[in-house]
Amino acid sequence: MTPNPWIEQIPIYEPGRPIEEVAREIGISDPSLLIKTASNENELGPSPKAVAAMQQSAAQMHRYPDGAAFDIKHKLAYLHSLSPHHIALGNGSNELIVLLGHILLNPESHLVMSEYAFVVYRLIGALFNASVTQIPMIDFTHDLNAMAKAIQPNTKIMAVCNPNNPTGTAVAPQQLLEFIKSIPSHILIIIDEAYIELMPEAQTPKLTSLIQQGQENLVLLRTFSKAYGLAGLRIGYAMAHPQIIKWINHVRQPFNLNAMAQAAAIAALDDHEHLNQSRSLTQRGRDQLEAGLRQLQIPFVPSCANFILIHTGDARACCQFLLGQCVIARPMNGYQLPEWIRLTVGTDEQNVKILKALEAWKEASAA
Ligand SMILES: *Cc1c(COP(=O)(O)O)cnc(C)c1O
Repeated sequence: MTPNPWIEQIPIYEPGRPIEEVAREIGISDPSLLIKTASNENELGPSPKAVAAMQQSAAQMHRYPDGAAFDIKHKLAYLHSLSPHHIALGNGSNELIVLLGHILLNPESHLVMSEYAFVVYRLIGALFNASVTQIPMIDFTHDLNAMAKAIQPNTKIMAVCNPNNPTGTAVAPQQLLEFIKSIPSHILIIIDEAYIELMPEAQTPKLTSLIQQGQENLVLLRTFSKAYGLAGLRIGYAMAHPQIIKWINHVRQPFNLNAMAQAAAIAALDDHEHLNQSRSLTQRGRDQLEAGLRQLQIPFVPSCANFILIHTGDARACCQFLLGQCVIARPMNGYQLPEWIRLTVGTDEQNVKILKALEAWKEASAA
């Protein structure tokens, strides 16, 4: 067999390491001693209402899910003042990025993104053997003007992650609006808003109004993996012009959204208390970690999401050291940032331990 010639050029995504795997490796019998700060998960856990809904739905798992995802789609439409025709669901928002690739990318096409933007856009470009241009950032923030200037005749997608993973930075809402207006309508603009619920209010763009007004080339991506604490369940959604949603329906699998995820997401959307707790845990923890890092004189990029990009010197060595302190962190070598790690905001108690571990690394690496 010979695979398509570009297949082996597609980098394999390197996820944050699971707690159990690390516990086995370093010989810890109680995995709960480990702090996983590698995957931007929600340390509050899922909404108790979502857990109850999943338990209740378990007895019906002999049935196929609702392929049209009627209930969750209507709920999201109501929440965002859109129609169900503006909404598509995915097995995580990552699946929706793949589906948009199916619709628009091929070996003759071109995608524009930032150099330190979420790596999945680059992987999807590679999946369809499209060319990808990565634009240098300014102070770890998207340079939207330079991105707009990088448009070529064959450009099909502009991907903007806001706030951006892994830098934690966001662009000003007004700048983002002007950028969207400046892009020709035959180019799809993906705005990945995976962390939008956790942003400070003043930095939060209100882009759903553009979808309401009929913007034809905009997709907003959202997920239940972060603020809603349901990463393990795999559920995300897209908001876009009905034409784009129709194309997504052409390329998706009939049951791409499992039944338990549909039940949980509906319940999670009703749990305002959980969402508010997620927000305050993130805000408090972000402040706590940033204050601690300043005190330790460890450079970092100020964040408006639930993670922080931190300059530690040799990232792989640092993460290995932190493992010895029972902290699982994420080296950023895959982003061409071999001296930076990314840490997820945890609970107050976890943040204290994370800062202690970083202090120990600082002493060890200075010695
Ligand atoms: C975590 C994350 C997502 C969410 O992906 P899911 O597939 O919904 O879990 C999407 N985009 C970015 C930038 C992320 O960091």
